[in-house]
This record gives sequence, C-alpha cells and structure tokens, in this order.
Amino acid sequence: MRTRAAALVAALTLLAVTACSGDTSGPSDRVRPETGPSTEQAAPEAAAPADTSCNPRASRRPSGALPAAGKMPAGTYMRKIQERGYLILGTSQDTLLFSSRNPFTGAIEGFDVDMGRQIAQAVLGDPGKIRIKVIPYADRSEVVADGTVDIVADTMTANCARWKDTDFSSIYYDAGQKVLVKSTSDARGIDDLGGKKICAAEGSTSYTNIGAAASKPTAVALATFGDCLVAFQRNEVDAISTDDTILVGLSAQDPYAKIVGPALSKEPYGMAISNAHQEFTRFVNAVLEKNRANGTWKKTYERWLGDLGPAPAPPAAEYRD
Ligand code: GLU
Repeated sequence: MRTRAAALVAALTLLAVTACSGDTSGPSDRVRPETGPSTEQAAPEAAAPADTSCNPRASRRPSGALPAAGKMPAGTYMRKIQERGYLILGTSQDTLLFSSRNPFTGAIEGFDVDMGRQIAQAVLGDPGKIRIKVIPYADRSEVVADGTVDIVADTMTANCARWKDTDFSSIYYDAGQKVLVKSTSDARGIDDLGGKKICAAEGSTSYTNIGAAASKPTAVALATFGDCLVAFQRNEVDAISTDDTILVGLSAQDPYAKIVGPALSKEPYGMAISNAHQEFTRFVNAVLEKNRANGTWKKTYERWLGDLGPAPAPPAAEYRD
C-alpha cells in the first residue's frame, strides 16, 4: 500500500525558489450551475494573454517595527481586527495539506490555515482567534475586495491580473502546475493530452493554462478540485491539472492515479488582502519577515510537508515600494 510519505515524495517536486473554524458554509452552497464538461468554457480565458505588466512577487514593504500583539495602532485595519476579537480567513476545506477538514475534529487545518493563524497571533496574541470562511476559488479576490474576509490564504497564485483587484503579501510558497492521470496512462505531461478532457477549478490559474496548452486539450471547469476528483473517478474527464501541492492531496485520495509532467507554470502563493488598507499588507509582510527569520516558516513546512524531506529555504521577500 502506498504511504502518504511515498505519495508526497513521488508527487511533489518543488520549483526552484527564484527568488475555530467557525463558519462551515461549504463550497457546495456556491457551486456554479455547470456540472459537466463544457468546451465552451475554455475559449474566453484561454484566449487571454498572460499579464506581465508587473512583478507579481513584489509586495508592499513593511514599515517600522511590528507593534506588539493586542496593541495595534489606532486608525489601522489591524486595530479593527483587534477590536472585533478575531481574524476572518478565507480558504478551502478540501485542499489536503494546505486547508482541509480534519475528519476527526472537524477543524479546517493545513499550511494555509497556519499562515492565517500566524497573522491572528501577531494581531491578537492568540493563533486560535480566527474564523474561517470556506470559499470557492472563483470568489477569492471578490471576498477580499468586498470585505467579507480580512485575508485569503488558499493556494492562491499572486499574478498581475489579480494584483489589479487586491494586494498580495510577499510570496510564502512556490508551487508549479502538473497533471494527474490514471496510473495506467502513458502520458508524461500535458503535451501528451491533446484532445483529452482536463479538469480544473473555475477561477484557477490552471484552468487558464490548460486552455493555453499547445497540445490543445479541452479545459473543463468545475467548482472545486474535489469535484474534479469525482469527475476523474467517474471517467467524465481524463485528467486533472493544478498545482503540484494540490495534486499531492488528490493523488493521496486515489490509488489509481499518478502525477506526471514537468511543471508547466510557476505558481507563487501570496495571501490576498484588500488594497483599501495597505497598512495591513505591510503588517502581514512584517510578520512573514519575522517568521522566515525565526524558524516559524520552517516549522510550518515541516508540520505539513515534512514527508517531502528537509524544508527548503523560504521564498525571499521582494518589494515594490
Ligand atoms: N494556485 C492556483 C490559483 O491561484 C490554484 C490552483 C490552480 O490554479 O489550479 O488559481
């Protein structure tokens, strides 16, 4: 039987570093009406050229020393969170290792949830002072921009198109997109999947990348990668393509699947934050700086991804101002 460790080691090759779950509203409340494969869905996003108008890794520089937990400066967004008494984190509940529901405790946990808890710790002095809202990928930018959540940590790629809607923190993880196929498949990557149906979550960067692949597969959008796994197991789609991090979690749930490919993209993860209160982005980046330097990032990696081997160096922070 394949162990979790073996699945992880076999599946996840990191790209070189270039540089109180209170709310239980599940994504099923918000699933889009399309449930089956649809070739029409691929066309509009596939036609959009990648937006290279910025360095998406570059965030807002921290300003000054971090205020002590529970002593947020008056008039700041952090003070608002302090007065409310908890941080509202938007994330998934089905991304094993990054944010998924523990079947024994019911709590949503993982690398991304810990990123949110570390911000709660910095603002409120308690990593448990957090409420989680489960959101579909397609709504990640919107829930940040409209103030439904304070921050999203949800395997979310920082890119230039998304920077137009929200801020991103500095990069906290470097992932890359690969493909999940049947264990009996001869395919070695997306280049061998021309004409095949490949599933990705609606609103994900992977969905766009599948539509743009030279081999011309058919991109199929479903609401979540959990839905893609069900469609894959029912033979409604031939493959799933997403970040290696997410595929590791999917392959651990399907002994008849394997991950293939060179990575077809770089997916640097940042936490999304509203650009209406940029002081919060600077604060979050100061917390990330501290946690890279004091070993917290390394411990978080070891806790969730330790089966992959020793923790790499965390992604270096880059700033735009
Ligand atoms: N990192 C991706 C994103 O932010 C999520 C996974 C995917 O694209 O498949 O859209």
